[in-house]
Amino acid sequence: SEAPPNLKLLLIGNSSVGKSSLLMRFTDAQFLPEDESSATIGVDFRVCKLEVGGRRVKLSIWDTAGQERFRTITSSYYRGAQGIIVAYDISNRETFDALPRWFTELETYVSPSVVKMLVGNKLDKEFSRAVTEDEGRKFAERTGCLFVEASAKTNIGVREAFMELVEKILDTPALWAPA
Ligand code: GDP
Repeated sequence: SEAPPNLKLLLIGNSSVGKSSLLMRFTDAQFLPEDESSATIGVDFRVCKLEVGGRRVKLSIWDTAGQERFRTITSSYYRGAQGIIVAYDISNRETFDALPRWFTELETYVSPSVVKMLVGNKLDKEFSRAVTEDEGRKFAERTGCLFVEASAKTNIGVREAFMELVEKILDTPALWAPA
């Protein structure tokens, strides 16, 4: 049988929107993370294996580890990524308004065929919502992203966000299959 594809995913978005929390929630809740995490180069990454639709994949998921403002390693961070999670906080308007800047950056570094998932995180803070679901969905449509609202805190939408992203990557063999 074929070796499972090795996929690189990464998380971007303003500081404190919950990127690390989404990553921790996904990897801790669903999988046995391998002991390959690293925080030595200003990024954190976690490796995990999972099965999606009967297909095994190995994921390396990269997180900026709070270095969003100071990154001097931007091009290596993006290099080789097949999927990108762009996160904002539904209770913080500023983090949504910052999205065009994140898209400008990612379009500089990755091909348009890379699969993107927009995640409106902190859905548990409905009482202080500052961005409607419709605004999130429309932004995702305009920028060609998948979209989900989620809460890393209450574990809503997190698995869905990662799984849909991986499924779409697997449905796009040009992104990962050897030529
Ligand atoms: P990062 O800087 O984007 O990696 O954000 P963190 O994962 O460090 O989270 C920033 C803060 O938001 C922390 O205090 C988290 O506990 C909190 N947080 C993360 N996700 C959620 C969520 O879904 N709901 C709520 N209420 N808080 C969250």
